[in-house]
Amino acid sequence: MSEINENENNKTEETIELKVKVKKTKKDYNRKYYDNNREKIIKKACEKKQCNLCGKFIAHKTVVKHQTTNLCKKICLKNKYEKWLKDENENENENENENENEINI
Ligand SMILES: [Zn+2]
Repeated sequence: MSEINENENNKTEETIELKVKVKKTKKDYNRKYYDNNREKIIKKACEKKQCNLCGKFIAHKTVVKHQTTNLCKKICLKNKYEKWLKDENENENENENENENEINI
């Protein structure tokens, strides 16, 4: 442990060489990974994901950006209004039923 620290502090050629090697290996690994999983990566990037605010399906990558747009807010409001309208209608129906019952009695 202490040896590594000394080497790093001294910035010996050996450690610099090692760092370059590690960096190169990582780069190679990423490139290899991309080559092997290219289709998977692209497919995932294009995958549609449902916005948890408005329920619209959008590209996986743009969900966060989409949620800040007016379109999302607009759809949210529309959904809320439609839900409210539905609830109102249901309440009205309930009231109608109550009235019918009253008439029957
Ligand atoms: Zn949305």
